[in-house]
Amino acid sequence: MIKITGLTKRFGDLTVLQNVSTEIGKGEVISIIGPSGCGKSTFLRCINLLEKPTAGEIFINGENISDRRADVNRLRQKMGMVFQSFNLYSHLMIIENLMLGPQKLLKTPRQQAFDNGMKYLEMVGLAGKAYSYPDELSGGQKQRAAIARTLAMKPEIVLFDEPTSALDPTMVGEVLAVMRKLATEGLTMLIVTHEMKFARDVSTRVLYMDEQGIYEEGSSEQVFDHPQRPKTRAFIHKIRSFVHKIEGKHFDLYAFNARLEQFLKRHMFTEKKINTMLLISEELLCNILPDIEGEYMLEYSDETGETTVTVSYMKEEEENPLTSEEHSLPLMIIQNSAKDVSYHFADNKNTIKITLEG
Ligand code: ADP
Ligand code: MG
Repeated sequence: MIKITGLTKRFGDLTVLQNVSTEIGKGEVISIIGPSGCGKSTFLRCINLLEKPTAGEIFINGENISDRRADVNRLRQKMGMVFQSFNLYSHLMIIENLMLGPQKLLKTPRQQAFDNGMKYLEMVGLAGKAYSYPDELSGGQKQRAAIARTLAMKPEIVLFDEPTSALDPTMVGEVLAVMRKLATEGLTMLIVTHEMKFARDVSTRVLYMDEQGIYEEGSSEQVFDHPQRPKTRAFIHKIRSFVHKIEGKHFDLYAFNARLEQFLKRHMFTEKKINTMLLISEELLCNILPDIEGEYMLEYSDETGETTVTVSYMKEEEENPLTSEEHSLPLMIIQNSAKDVSYHFADNKNTIKITLEG
């Protein structure tokens, strides 16, 4: 359906994309992952002609859209784009936001635009908000309305650029649920996202971008579980782990909890599991190891479902805090949820490791 050949994009001296080629078939759900600044947004924006490629060609259903003679507006209508920020017109009601594009660009009659708009609002669970203004909606609702507005243009493919990263963590789930539904209904989607669990579940293909192009691609399983190339491996490892410096007396539990909760939500941990993780971490950092200077790391594996929490700190003598009588209560709380709790000492480095089952 879409064919990209030799796509290159430079901004002045900066080459962001170098000779990228790929094809996207109808019904494919492709996730694009990669470090910040590697060119993911630029890639989407070139496909959508929001940026002019420096070189290369993009075909949609055989038509060369990078050709100067192409009817860019008509072609762009085949591609919807959903951004981080919702870009709804604040002076228009939600239903009017949905009717505007079809009436103006597709010349759809008013009544039909209304009926269609309502249909898409229903699809994203917002029929009840048709007559509300954007400011009366939560962030998650706004993004769902923005998705409905995009669908109302009946695009053949929808490009999503980090659609949940501007949202409060509590609202990410509702937007992902809508996207998940669209994916199962056969919509062709190209999604830049940090939501790895989501990407893993819905993608027919995953593209890892780095070094000015598609550095590695494959099925979810290939890219997430068995990455072949070094940068992909490092990236996958990094996104699965949460690291937080613990700064002795100045340790800020509230800031720590907020960050950890956000990480766990992003990886689709259940509410119950998140609470367990927060409780265990608090017992460990505030009651068993108060005032340490060190590092907290949480890692999880999609394959085994196992989560490990490792806290390490420097102290010259070997002293196992887990055997101390005064820690028996917090330790019991931890052991209640954990499969294993262990202490390790080497080179003045003390490490406590907690393993939890999936
Ligand atoms: P990502 O979405 O992967 O984080 P971007 O595509 O936004 O990355 O950006 C890739 C690189 O291109 C970055 O170094 C960014 O600073 C640069 N860049 C993006 N847009 C422009 C622009 N309009 N002008 C100049 N540089 C840009
Ligand atoms: Mg981006």
